[in-house]
Amino acid sequence: MSRTEQPPTDWRRRAADLAPDGRAHIGGRRRDPEGDRWEPVTSPAHGGRIAELGACTTADVDRAVAAARRAQPAWAALPDQERKEALLRLADALERNAEELALLETLDIGKPIGQTTAVDLPGAVATFRFYAEAADKRAGELPSTPPGATAMVTREPLGVVAAIVPWNYPLEIASWKVAPALASGNAVVLKPAEQSSLTALRLADLAAEAGLPDGVLNVVTGGAPTGAALAAHMDVDVLAFTGSTETARGLLAASGRSNLKRLALEAGGKSANLVFADADLAAAAEKAAFGAFYNQGQVCSANSRILVQRPVLEEFTAALVKAAAAYRPVDPLSGAAGNGSLISAAHTDAVQGWIGRGEADGELLDGGRRVEITGSDAYLEPAVIAGLDAGHPLHTEEVFGPVAVVHPFDTEDEAVHLANATRYGLAASLWTEDLRRAQRTAARLVAGTVSVNTVDALSTTTPFGGFKQSGFGRDLSLHALDNYTALKTTWLQWG
Ligand code: ADP
Repeated sequence: MSRTEQPPTDWRRRAADLAPDGRAHIGGRRRDPEGDRWEPVTSPAHGGRIAELGACTTADVDRAVAAARRAQPAWAALPDQERKEALLRLADALERNAEELALLETLDIGKPIGQTTAVDLPGAVATFRFYAEAADKRAGELPSTPPGATAMVTREPLGVVAAIVPWNYPLEIASWKVAPALASGNAVVLKPAEQSSLTALRLADLAAEAGLPDGVLNVVTGGAPTGAALAAHMDVDVLAFTGSTETARGLLAASGRSNLKRLALEAGGKSANLVFADADLAAAAEKAAFGAFYNQGQVCSANSRILVQRPVLEEFTAALVKAAAAYRPVDPLSGAAGNGSLISAAHTDAVQGWIGRGEADGELLDGGRRVEITGSDAYLEPAVIAGLDAGHPLHTEEVFGPVAVVHPFDTEDEAVHLANATRYGLAASLWTEDLRRAQRTAARLVAGTVSVNTVDALSTTTPFGGFKQSGFGRDLSLHALDNYTALKTTWLQWG
C-alpha cells in the first residue's frame, strides 16, 4: 500500500460499534412508544439482532400529527430562502454522516455496503439539495382576467403530509417524499417500513441538528397498524406512499372513509424489457441483468420480464446467463461486488417459491439456489427462467426478488402487446438500433418511464411513477411538488 492509499474500511468492526436507536422521533425529540411495546430488528445480512424498534400506537401517531400541525404554519411562513438553507444544512448533515447511514442501511436490509455508500446515500443527499434549491425558484401565474381585475395563481402547501415508505430503498424513497413536501412548506410524519426504520430515524435526528424547527419532520415507527392510523387520521392532509398495490388500495379506501386526504401512490410494477434483433446484444444482456437483479431484484421498476425477438433468443439468453454471474450473493459488509441478502428469510422463502413454480412450469436456465452467508440464509442466486406461457403468473405478478423470465416474440406488435399485458404500468425498456422503431414502440408502451437502449432510467430531474395499477402521482423532478401543494387563486378587483 502506498502512503497515500487508505486501508479498506473494516465495516464489520464499525458495525459492532453501532448502537441504533429505535425510538420514534416526535416533536423534535426521541420518544418511547406509548405502552412501551418494542419489536426486535434482525439484520438479514447476518441474522443477528441489531436494535429494538418502538411499536407506535394510535396515541403516538396522534402526537406526531399534532406536532406536525403545530409546526407547519410557521415553517410555511418562513421566507423560501430560509427553508432552502435549512434543507441544504440537512443535506450537508446527511453527507457528513453518510458512512454511518450507509452502514445502518446495509445492516438493516442486507444491501451491499458498496451500493449504500456509492448510490443510496449520494442519492438521498442529491434529492434534498434538488428540492432545497427548488424552494425559492417556483413562480406563480397571472392568468388573463377582465379589465379591472388581477388574478394571482399560487401553489400553497397542503399542511400535514404522511409519507409511508417501503424497505427496498429506505432512505432514498423517504427523501423522494420528505424533501419536496418540506421544501413546499408542509410538515411531515414519516412512517418507514418496520423492516428498515433506522436511517429514517437518523434523518430526523439530523434534521433537528440542522435546525429544522421541532415538529416539522416526525418519524413514527411500526408496521401496518401504524400506517393505517395515519391513513385514517382526520388531520393528515396528504398521504404519499410507495409499496404494494394491495396496501395502496387500502389507503385509497381509508382516505374515502376519513377526510378525503390527497394521495400520491406508487404501487409496484412488472416491467418489460424488449430486446429487438438489431440491438447491441452484449450491452442489452449486461443491462438486462442489472435491470432484473440489481438490489436483489427488490425494485418496483425491475425489468423482470425480458422479451426477446426470436432470431436472437439463444444468443441473448446465453449472454444474460453470463451477465447474471455479477449478481451472485456476497457478504454485504465485505465490500465485494455482487448482491446482498434479500430483506428477510421469510421473503426469501416466498421468492424461492416463485422460482420453484417457474422450474415446474418452465425451465430454470440458471441460478435460483439459496445460499447461506455469515449466518443468514436470506441469500439467493439470481434466477433466469424460460419456457413459460405469456400469461403465467411469473409474467404478470411482482416477485420482488432476483428472478427474470425470458420469453420470445416475433413482431413489433406482439412485443408491445406482451409488454402491456399486465395490470401494472410503471416502467419499460427497449433495445434497438433503429431510431424510428424506438420512437414508435416507446409511444405505444403504457409505462411511466420508457428507457431506450438502457434499463430503468431514473434521475432526480425526471418524474417517476406509474400508469394503471402502478398508481398515480409522481416522485422526483419539479412535478413531485404537485403532490404536496394545491393551486390557489387570489382575485384582486381593483377597477
Ligand atoms: P411490501 O410488500 O413491499 O412490504 P407494503 O405495501 O406491505 O409493501 O409496505 C409498504 C409500506 O406500507 C410499509 O411502510 C408498511 O408498513 C406500510 N403498510 C403495510 N400495510 C399497511 C396498511 N394496511 N396501512 C398503512 N400502511 C401499511
